[in-house]
Amino acid sequence: MVKHTLAKNIDKHLNETVTLKGWVYNIRKSGKIWFLIFRDGTEFIQCVILKDEVSSEVFDLKNTLTQESSLAIEGVVQKAPRQKFGYEILVKNIKVMQIAEEYPISLKEHGIEFLLDNRHLWLRSKKQNAILRIRHEIIKASRNFFDDRDFTLIDSPMFTPNASEGTTTLFKTKYFDQDAYLTQSGQLYSEAGIMGFNKTYCFGPIFRAEKSKTRRHLTEFWMIEPEMAFYDINDNMDLAEEFVRYIVEQVLKNRKKELEILERDTSKLEKITLPFPRITYDEAVKILQDNGRDFKWGDDFGAPDETLITKKFDTPIMIHHWPAETKAFYMKRDENDDKFVLGVDMIAPEGYGEIIGGSQREEDIDLLLSRIKKENLSEEMYNWYIDLRRYGSVPHSGFGLGLERTVSWICGNQHIREAIPWPRTITRLKP
Ligand code: ATP
Ligand code: MG
Repeated sequence: MVKHTLAKNIDKHLNETVTLKGWVYNIRKSGKIWFLIFRDGTEFIQCVILKDEVSSEVFDLKNTLTQESSLAIEGVVQKAPRQKFGYEILVKNIKVMQIAEEYPISLKEHGIEFLLDNRHLWLRSKKQNAILRIRHEIIKASRNFFDDRDFTLIDSPMFTPNASEGTTTLFKTKYFDQDAYLTQSGQLYSEAGIMGFNKTYCFGPIFRAEKSKTRRHLTEFWMIEPEMAFYDINDNMDLAEEFVRYIVEQVLKNRKKELEILERDTSKLEKITLPFPRITYDEAVKILQDNGRDFKWGDDFGAPDETLITKKFDTPIMIHHWPAETKAFYMKRDENDDKFVLGVDMIAPEGYGEIIGGSQREEDIDLLLSRIKKENLSEEMYNWYIDLRRYGSVPHSGFGLGLERTVSWICGNQHIREAIPWPRTITRLKP
């Protein structure tokens, strides 16, 4: 057989003989001709098998090949204007690697729990493939965005001795003869990083023991967290909106085919232009109350609140100036009114909810210590973090973008579980 080509590249081999290696997606038979829809993980291609063009053994494979059987196909690349991809293969030879047993995922509809139980097989499907390629694009765009803007990648540890986002969602684990916690955010370490590198980002898995079952919460997810020295809350919001706009732009440019497979209404994504509206927490509460919603000042917004607040906007919006009580101890108090902290949440449009949480950080050692005390956190555990306010404290800010929330929004999936290869939720640890 001639040299192996990926299916997505066969357009470069018109009228040439190529070898493709992959799996059977579907077979259609009619007398002296049969069609094999082939996939190799890069593209789906129709292969035509004519009785007069192949040996009788190869022609008879139509009776033995099953869905997901693995094989190598040798054939000539032809134009096929009626095929979606525009090309097909006129088959000369087929070598079977394995005849697959009856495949549990057929081309008909299946229930979500069944598909999640079979995630190891479900990953092969067209839609899952498209989602995870968009995820890859978003990761690539994120890295490029920060790499091009003088950020250094300084990753934070996964094992930590202390909490960063409150103690209710901590995963505790044994660490030899001590207790440790899986990281809830890389931020505190990034704050140390910027004092050495000026601007940093970290990108890694985050673990939160989310006990409520929602469409937006995983127990293991990935977060991209930039942190910047000398940025105030406004600089932080400028960067956040530029970042999100850039991600959307890159996906629109490079993943047209995938967005089409997902039937995503891309006109909605094309409306993501700058600037994103910025409203205060108080203004957001007013929108809720004006819409007849019974909302108590000081609470965090739930999913239905976020949907209502963003309804009038085509782009994500940023809500800033939060009541101090709702937010983490490290957020900087507003100097004009210390009921508030300089935190910001970015809420995606179309009801996809919060994608970014960020803030200007408290740089004043006394205010920081008082918040640590008030929250009953161990001063000793945070001593290294407090050092950052002892040795050249500076104004600084940062935020975290939830990768899977962003993937869900851009792909148009209301549920987060398909935005990660191996979802982990309160009820799912397998496969
Ligand atoms: P929420 O109120 O939705 O639980 P949060 O306020 O706990 O979010 P942050 O601590 O600000 O979120 O985390 C930053 C970002 O990480 C969020 O904006 C979101 O995109 C993402 N995120 C947070 N928790 C989860 C989770 N359990 N699963 C997936 N993504 C998450
Ligand atoms: Mg949360």
